[in-house]
Amino acid sequence: MVSSTMKKVIWAIWLLICPIGLWITYRFYPPQISGYEVDIIIFLILAFFVAATPMVINGSPIFLIQWVSWAVFLTFGLFIEIILVQLTLIVLFLRVKLSKEQLFRVPLNSLMFFLVSFLSGIIYYELGGPSGSNIVALHSFVWLLPLYPILYYVLNHFFFGVINFLIYKGKRETFGIDFVWETITTIITFPMGYVLFVLYRELGLVALFFVGIPFASLSIILNLYYSSKKINELLQNAAEIGHQLAERLYIDEVLDLFIKKLPDMLPVDYAYILDIVDDEELHLIRQVEKGKKVSSNIEPLRKNEGISGLVWKQKKAALYSTAKEWRTIVKGYMPESAESVLCVPIVRNSQVTGILLLASTGKSAYEKSQLMIVDILCSHFAVAIENARNYEETKAQSERCALTRLYNYRYFDNLLSNEFEKLLDWKRDKISLVILDIDHFKSVNDIYGHQSGNEILCQFASLLLSLIGDQGTVARYGGEEFVILLPDIEKREAFKIAERIRVTISNYPFILEQHIGKNNQTKRVDITASIGVATAPQDADEPLALIRHADRALYVGAKRAGRNRVAEYVK
Ligand code: GH3
Ligand code: MG
Ligand code: MG
Repeated sequence: MVSSTMKKVIWAIWLLICPIGLWITYRFYPPQISGYEVDIIIFLILAFFVAATPMVINGSPIFLIQWVSWAVFLTFGLFIEIILVQLTLIVLFLRVKLSKEQLFRVPLNSLMFFLVSFLSGIIYYELGGPSGSNIVALHSFVWLLPLYPILYYVLNHFFFGVINFLIYKGKRETFGIDFVWETITTIITFPMGYVLFVLYRELGLVALFFVGIPFASLSIILNLYYSSKKINELLQNAAEIGHQLAERLYIDEVLDLFIKKLPDMLPVDYAYILDIVDDEELHLIRQVEKGKKVSSNIEPLRKNEGISGLVWKQKKAALYSTAKEWRTIVKGYMPESAESVLCVPIVRNSQVTGILLLASTGKSAYEKSQLMIVDILCSHFAVAIENARNYEETKAQSERCALTRLYNYRYFDNLLSNEFEKLLDWKRDKISLVILDIDHFKSVNDIYGHQSGNEILCQFASLLLSLIGDQGTVARYGGEEFVILLPDIEKREAFKIAERIRVTISNYPFILEQHIGKNNQTKRVDITASIGVATAPQDADEPLALIRHADRALYVGAKRAGRNRVAEYVK
């Protein structure tokens, strides 16, 4: 970030230097242009055309205007060259569409190009370099001609380095890919400047046409080359992200990875994933702003409401370059500083299953070609989500008993082993185990039928869950036997809990909805349970022993002693 004081300083320096510098140039190196006004305007048009087709490398446009400006400098002098470069800067900035925070780049670049032109020109002149009408003496100074572009190039990079150091605190790479590309394109285009200059002297304005066409072709070829290279890289990245998404087993992991990887592919300041719920509403399920996961309570959107609702309805991505374009469409939440918006439907089996909305604070941050990449990413994402959902469902099913929805024996067995490992690693002091068996359950089945027996088992399960809460884990161990694992609860406390459960059960009115008796009344059944308690490590040093000992307490201490009672294991 560039501070606002720094921005004011930049504007002030620009105001101070540029007008005075221009005046000095005009005064000491007056242009000789009478009779060439039309020619100069046509040169200006060529320069505008060149500036309007910049190459964009790493998101920054490369300004390939130097060759035209060189020819203009040699033909019409320094003053006209400065004016031409400054005017073409306007074209360049119009194309790049700066946001308000970036507006300081206008005076900054104007100042930099002014100084580069001015200093190169003055050094060239002071060494005796000719231009304008003096150029008649060309052959004796021919070795001086390349001095101007060389000075120009060196000074340009010198100032770039200074700006990077003073204003961006060295955060921009000075000799990165941009530098390489700029050097290559400068070397390729400079000879064209010389050709333009010589041809214009010989042929007049037709020269611009002869040189303009090869330049346009070169510019198009380089742009194509760069963009195909760029798209190739993006596709490779997308495939890599796709692989990584496919490896995630849980929905949360898929969501987090997806939203984390998006900024690697395109400029993202705000990212939102919305889920379609009941084919009616869009619910925000992930929200990342400036790299931070946030969660705010946002009203769900309906189909056709806001940008996301519209994308859902039309099943088609939407791309906006500025806030103005979406201001009238948006509904509900959108960050203040957002400008560019890219909103894509997440489609699986030709059904829209969600919406991805990306926003950037820069204008025109997204291009059509990126839309294709995001589309590919979204289809990887949709498949990964479906797989994770299936995995989670299958896992939940395999861990639960179908009748009571309690955890089953398999899950409990695993849990107990894990808890014992914690005990061995000193992460737990003790584990208590409570085992329950309903008394005379066979006769409940015999009297009211198996279906009614099932109803009681379900009510019994809910009762246990509500009594235990998050103190421990309740599981159905088998038929009418249940277990409760109580981590970090000592034996005496576990015994108390078991006793409270026993009393609650014996007083609880179990209701049989299915069993219709006389007068259409539901039937109330009273049951009791016998309970055994054992605690590790005092009663057992391995999982099976703990179960066996609790079971033994249940049969010997509770059932045999008359049922409806709690017994603890005694050695
Ligand atoms: P006690 O434990 O007091 O000795 O008597 P009990 O009648 O409960 O004895 P036992 O443990 O031998 O019988 C368990 C009965 O529980 C047998 C079976 O009919 C019934 N049962 C087991 N699983 C289910 C089930 O899923 N649904 C129904 N309805 N009954 C079940
Ligand atoms: Mg039993
Ligand atoms: Mg029983």
